[in-house]
Amino acid sequence: MFRPVSSKVNFPQLEKSLLSFWKEHQIFGKSLETRCGATQFTLYEGPPTANGSPGIHHVLSRVFKDVIPRYKTMKGYYAPRKGGWDTHGLPVELEVEKMLGFTGKAQIEEYGVAKFNAHCRDSVFNYLKEWEAMTERIGFWLDLEHAYRTLENSYIESCWWALKQLWDKGLIYQGYRVTPHCPRCGTSLSSHEVALGYRDDAEDPSVYIKFKLKVGSFTFFVAQPPSDKPVFLLAWTTTPWTLPGNTALAVAPKAQYSIMEGADDYLILATALVDKVQLEGYKSIKVVSGRGLVGSEYQPLFNPHDFGVERRRFSARAAEENLSYEMLTLQPEDKNLAYPVISGDFVSMEEGTGIVHIAPAFGEVDFEAGKSEGLDFVQPVGLDGKITGTFPFAGKFVKDADPLVLENLKSRGLLYRGGRIVHTYPFCWRCEAPLLYYAKRTWYIRTSLKKEALISGNDEINWYPEHIKYGRFGNWLENNVDWAFSRERYWGTPLNVWNCSDCGNYECIESLEDLKSKPNLQGLIEPLDLHRPFVDDITFSCSKCGGKMKRQAEVIDCWFDSGAMPFAQWHYPFENEDTFNRSFPADYISEAVDQTRGWFYSLHAISTLLFDRPCFKNVICLGHILDAEGEKMSKARGNVVDPWSVLDSYGADALRWYLFTAAPAGNVRRFSSDAVAEVLRNFLLTLWNIYSFFVVYANIDCFDPKSAGTPSLSDLDKWIISRLNQLVVDVDEALDNYDPTSAGRKLEVFVDELSNWYVRRSRRRFWKSQSDADKLAAYTTLYGCLVTLSKLLAPFTPFVAEEMYQNLVRSVDSKAVESVHLADFPVPDRAQIDAELVEATRLAMTVCSLGRAARAKAGIKVRQPLSRALVKVRSAGEKKALQKLTYQILDELNVKEVEFHKGEEGGDEPGYISAVEGDYLVAVATELSPELEAEGIAREVVRRLQTMRRSAGLDIADHIVTYYNDGDSIQMVMTKFADYIKQETLSRDLISAAPPAESYTEKFRISNYEISLGIKKAA
Ligand SMILES: [Zn+2]
Ligand SMILES: [Zn+2]
Repeated sequence: MFRPVSSKVNFPQLEKSLLSFWKEHQIFGKSLETRCGATQFTLYEGPPTANGSPGIHHVLSRVFKDVIPRYKTMKGYYAPRKGGWDTHGLPVELEVEKMLGFTGKAQIEEYGVAKFNAHCRDSVFNYLKEWEAMTERIGFWLDLEHAYRTLENSYIESCWWALKQLWDKGLIYQGYRVTPHCPRCGTSLSSHEVALGYRDDAEDPSVYIKFKLKVGSFTFFVAQPPSDKPVFLLAWTTTPWTLPGNTALAVAPKAQYSIMEGADDYLILATALVDKVQLEGYKSIKVVSGRGLVGSEYQPLFNPHDFGVERRRFSARAAEENLSYEMLTLQPEDKNLAYPVISGDFVSMEEGTGIVHIAPAFGEVDFEAGKSEGLDFVQPVGLDGKITGTFPFAGKFVKDADPLVLENLKSRGLLYRGGRIVHTYPFCWRCEAPLLYYAKRTWYIRTSLKKEALISGNDEINWYPEHIKYGRFGNWLENNVDWAFSRERYWGTPLNVWNCSDCGNYECIESLEDLKSKPNLQGLIEPLDLHRPFVDDITFSCSKCGGKMKRQAEVIDCWFDSGAMPFAQWHYPFENEDTFNRSFPADYISEAVDQTRGWFYSLHAISTLLFDRPCFKNVICLGHILDAEGEKMSKARGNVVDPWSVLDSYGADALRWYLFTAAPAGNVRRFSSDAVAEVLRNFLLTLWNIYSFFVVYANIDCFDPKSAGTPSLSDLDKWIISRLNQLVVDVDEALDNYDPTSAGRKLEVFVDELSNWYVRRSRRRFWKSQSDADKLAAYTTLYGCLVTLSKLLAPFTPFVAEEMYQNLVRSVDSKAVESVHLADFPVPDRAQIDAELVEATRLAMTVCSLGRAARAKAGIKVRQPLSRALVKVRSAGEKKALQKLTYQILDELNVKEVEFHKGEEGGDEPGYISAVEGDYLVAVATELSPELEAEGIAREVVRRLQTMRRSAGLDIADHIVTYYNDGDSIQMVMTKFADYIKQETLSRDLISAAPPAESYTEKFRISNYEISLGIKKAA
């Protein structure tokens, strides 16, 4: 006997009891133990940060991380899954800053780095319990007990080791370069971080500025200008705050420039852009080449010496790589300062004026021009994004300074025209401050040197979806730039580079042991916390000059931490060498698509630089989740869906199934709880109904799967068995191909066919009283389907799969493995796949659905038998195939006779109503004889009695006595179809009399007859 199953199921409640079962019996642990020694299948967990509640997008990636290792385990692999937590970095610091009400770094320094970092340490596990609870609740099997944590000394030490390897290979350098800088966070961002924060709706000034040429410095007028009006070069910018840093103007040497004469002055701009700029009241008096402008000089808009800002100049050595600030030589005060017009191949004739304002302190192109032309370098902005010096707008944040800069220029007649522009501009991906391209000293990993290896390594990786490989990810690698990996921050892996202020010597530390062995070591306090400020205090003697070595203040990019997890999670190479070797590279990783420039990249870059090979073989790249309206989910919009509410209402299986099947993994998907509810109804409840139907009848008939033997199968049985075996092939193949969506959709189709064709068509076989070979065949077949389904579904919906397995398998076979998750994945029996029968059944289903459509058109219920159906199919072959299944069509369409035509045979006939789909046509005869009508009433009576049985609270196997009123016509029906009605409703007797008082009664109108029925449980 199977444990009774209610047709009413509460999935969340069921799942909780299964969670307890797994926990109590340590099923996850056993699923590893039993595969010990088998080929390993490794998942790398992309570590989340537990300083906020997990969202629905986290559930998405976690279930995709879960499904593949579960499948591989059932396929016989040993699939350990070590959890991990990302604990460092700006996101964490920002949360703490918010909590403390800080707005900048000065407040952190004042508060104390030790105290600040202690808050960071606490905050990263604020939501750990919730993360753990969520992970467990959704059925994501992950070893959280031994999860790696990037803040551990051991983890940091592995990162240090990695950096030292790169240092020894000459892959780490310090550059004075323009880097994207977040003025609020006060730190550089790597290019992959910048890529996360572009906005295409940024509004900025769009202004034309006049730069006054120095009389005597230009030769393009034969002598002096024809009049004594001043001559200006017109340049365009969207960042007025950079103008105090201007030290040159660039022109395109081969382009033509027009000298435009106005009432009070001359303006020079590219001829090609004159129309676009729309000068008013100016006419062209001369055209000169860009080359003719080069070498002229103009007066600075702001002489830095007047505003307390130093002026430096790129030295001759500047053109070499790795420029350091020291090579920018300080320049003496100069009241008559003039800046040059230079030639630049980067000058665009598409926008602006064809004259480009150059500020080497801001912008990569400007910086490079400064280097190659030996320009002046003026930096009037601090790292906090505020203007320095004594400018009228000093102390303002750059964007706030914009209007003041323009006002100042306007008052001096140097602003030709102001305006606004909406364009694309990068913002900090964490704090949303506008990024500044800022020239400063930063540590780099020279990834560009390994570009070819990065690209060829990508060839070995399987990307799902495939287009990411040479699209988003491949392009990213093609355009590789060095990784700016130092951060001027507090909470992170400290940069393991010490520097001697006496001789400039740098040393990179490989390990704690290495550090402790340094001569004259001071400031190391045990137990050592490898974080700031404690590591900052550690000094030792310079190996070159004996001077004092101090640590460089920076911490490293937290993306380096997470990208180092393949080895750092094992504290490799200091420990666990074997474990590391066994689990490297990973077979599988999965995260959202934004990680192509985040974790996917940092994993790939570090692995390629260190080990010369990729560290993951297969990756499912998930699309983003939007809300039901297609909007991005955000706290500000208030449209964030709380996963717990979904789990509490519908359960984890419904949510998982929805996430797997609603859209292919890589697609952007809309999420709503309603959609999960629909999945629950359409899929899980359909499955549950089949399962509970089976258990109810199997228990009534005492079906024992062990003693079933080999039953004689009907076409229907053979058909579903064929479909089942094909399903095993398909699901196996799709999962092997990292495509849970296709696998899930195949399962959906199968469950639908099982319910709506196999079970529906077999109902009477289970229902009938006699236990014959046909009934046994039906039980055996449905039982086999459900058991196999439970195993196929186990990776997707681990809960309901376990429930079915426990009841269908374990309850009757104590020797079966303890859990469906310890079972082997089903193996298809290809000999049972009968393509012809499947095709014939598919045809029969089409015909029946058309027949039902024709009935609907005629307004005749399926319960009303009809005399005849005409069926038109495409070919003689189809006709032949269908003829074998005629009995199914007769029954399904409730007609007495079916006539097949092929192709053009037959046609519209009077007395028929038809439905057509493609080449198929089904027509039903609509005329009702009195006999057919009586049979229709009998069927209607059966249906009403069946409903009454349920309303009266009778068990399915209870026998009843039925009473009916004594009208002529009903008497005839009840007599003529007595056997049929008795059998279908388990009525012992049909009595034409008023029902006794204890009966359950109802009155109906069927056709034109008033009928009252009463039922009572038979003694
Ligand atoms: Zn920021
Ligand atoms: Zn030294």
